[in-house]
Formats: sequence, C-alpha cells, structure tokens
Amino acid sequence: EQQTEEVEVFSTPSYACQRRTTLDNHNAVLTDALSLLAENAELSGEDGRGVAFRRAAAALKALPLPVTRLTQLGGVPCLGGHSLRVIKVLTGIFGVGVKTAGRWIGEGILTLRQLRDSGPTLNRAQRAGLRHYDDLNRPVGRAEAAAVAAVVEAAAGSVLPGARVTLIGGFRRGKQTGHDVDFLITHPEEGREAGLMPKLVSWLDSQGFLLYQKTNSNSYLEAAEGPARPASNMDRFERCFSVFKLPEEAGRGGAGAGGEGGPRPWRAVRVDLVVSPVSQFAFALLGWTGSKLFERELRRWAGHEMNMCLSSHALYDHRQSRYLRASSEEEIFAHLGLEYIPPSERNA
Ligand code: ATP
Ligand code: MN
Ligand code: MN
Repeated sequence: EQQTEEVEVFSTPSYACQRRTTLDNHNAVLTDALSLLAENAELSGEDGRGVAFRRAAAALKALPLPVTRLTQLGGVPCLGGHSLRVIKVLTGIFGVGVKTAGRWIGEGILTLRQLRDSGPTLNRAQRAGLRHYDDLNRPVGRAEAAAVAAVVEAAAGSVLPGARVTLIGGFRRGKQTGHDVDFLITHPEEGREAGLMPKLVSWLDSQGFLLYQKTNSNSYLEAAEGPARPASNMDRFERCFSVFKLPEEAGRGGAGAGGEGGPRPWRAVRVDLVVSPVSQFAFALLGWTGSKLFERELRRWAGHEMNMCLSSHALYDHRQSRYLRASSEEEIFAHLGLEYIPPSERNA
C-alpha cells in the first residue's frame, strides 16, 4: 500500500490503463526488485500485498526518468536474497508455480540437482520443464516467434482452410523477446472454429513439432442475465499450453544454452494457442495481448468506474443489463470510456 502512495507523488494516473507504458523502463533495477517482492508475497499467500507491489512496479515503469531518491522506497520490507534466488530457480521450471516451489523448499529441495536426484514425483508438465530447463529459460526472439508462427499457420491452414492466426501476447506489444509465443486463432465464419484445437494439435504432433501439450476445451456459455461471477482473468476458450520442438535455422548459429559444441538442430519453445469464435475475437485479442497488469487494470476500470464486467469473451453493462458487442479493440475502449491505447503502449 505504501508503494502505491509513494509513486502517486509523481502524479501518475492511478490506473495503468490510463497510462502509456512503453518498453523504455528507466527504473528496471527498482521494478525488478519490486517484482521479486511481489513474487515473495504471492508465495506466502499474501496476494493483496503481491498486487500492491506489482502496481508499484508498474507505476515506476511509466515514469519518464529514473527515480533518484531511494528514500521513496523506505517502506518496503526487506527479504533475504537467498530465498528469493531459490524460488526463482524452482519456479523457473515450466509447470512449477510458487506453491509447488514453496512446498519443495519446505522439503529441503533447493536446487535442480536435488530435484533430479531425490525429487518428488513430477507431473508430465514438470518433467518436460525440467528436461528442457535451459531452453525454456532462454528468451524467445522475434525471429523464433516468426518461425513458430509459420508452423502454426501451416497447421491451421491445413486442418481448417480460411482460419486466421494472430500473434498475441508480448510480441504483439512489440517486445523483442518473450518467455513464450502466444497465438489467437479464429475463423471468419462463426462456428467453423469449433473443435479446431484437437485437430491442430494432432497435426502438429504428427509433424513432430510437439514436445509437450495440454489442451483445455471451451466451456464458455453466455448467460442472458449476465456473467455469474465477477470477470476473472481465467478464460474459457479452447486453449493449448505446449512446448514446441522448433528446428534451428541453419546459419543462425543458435548454439543454445548447453553449449556442447556445434549448433543444435532444434530448441524447445513454450507456445500458447487459443481458439475463439469470431464473435468474441476482439475481446479475446484485447484480453490476450496483455500486459497482465494492463488487463487487470482494464477489468478494474470496467468494474469500478463503469459498472461493467469485462472478460476475454465479452463486455457486460450492469446498468443496461446487456452485453455490449464489439468487433474491434477500438470499440471496446470506446464502450469503456477510455482513450484507445495501441498494443505497443500496453506494456504496463
Ligand atoms: P511474455 O513475453 O513473457 O510471454 P506476455 O505478456 O506474452 O509476456 P503471457 O503470460 O504469455 O505474457 O500472457 C499473454 C497474455 O495472455 C496476458 O495478457 C495474459 O493476461 C493473458 N493470459 C494468460 N493466461 C491467461 C488465462 N489463463 N486466461 C486469460 N488470459 C490469459
Ligand atoms: Mn507470452
Ligand atoms: Mn503465454
């Protein structure tokens, strides 16, 4: 709480969706530290404090200049650097969240070696995560994202001609690297997208592009009386968390993190696929472009300031007791009474 007050000294608007946050972060040292504090708070189940730290980090990111007076951060409780490092290594495994990491630390497992040697039974995702640890912790570049896009487009085009593949997530916001590559897939004819994901996944698998995948089916139903619960950030689209086996292009010299002589023929890349019906496409696009904090703040704005409920599926107006339709992100910002902010300025 202290932090959000402190940054208001700079007269930053309080919602991240009112601010333009580019990738030019003049306070990376501070925002990295605050992110660590947020992770630590979340680890101890203090979600409220975690969000407060994340808001503070985001507010600092929007500042045009580096903060010079560290006294502004005097209220931040200090934490041991070692425990944070351990948490970072363990949660760096795909499929391992802070809860699991916390449990392992409690059992005395502090390193990857300890986990490999005497570790508890890992689930399928965690086994893939541990096996491809170095690759999955190596940032994905734009060229690699483009190579994945080509594969996904080939897959979609082959199993559903006319399907449209859109790059979303951090790469749509202009980031040069990401922890994964995210795609939204739709078809201009409503309903044609139904059941697309299993076909897509089996095509990718048959071509040898998948090291791991977990597919969730679509469970979204629009109730006439509006959304049952407040919009959460979990949506209900058909989606697939996966690890791609991406062939390394010859001549790019991607020796990989292992560095065991000579370029490797492939690397593992985390890929998220989402399928949406075209009627929900604009909401899915807005909801999956991020940043996560920008999304959270959009939903907070919608609820607190507009008495609306925004999700990656729809926008519901409680005053009018009806859903507001939109076929573009611009229309959604307009419904929300917000100035349109393009993807490159949603890096809160
Ligand atoms: P990075 O470059 O590190 O991948 P990113 O912004 O792409 O950063 P992701 O974790 O890939 O981050 O998430 C992309 C977007 O998808 C975010 O805006 C997030 O809000 C949204 N998102 C992620 N998981 C879900 C989910 N389960 N339900 C709804 N939206 C989600
Ligand atoms: Mn991403
Ligand atoms: Mn993702």
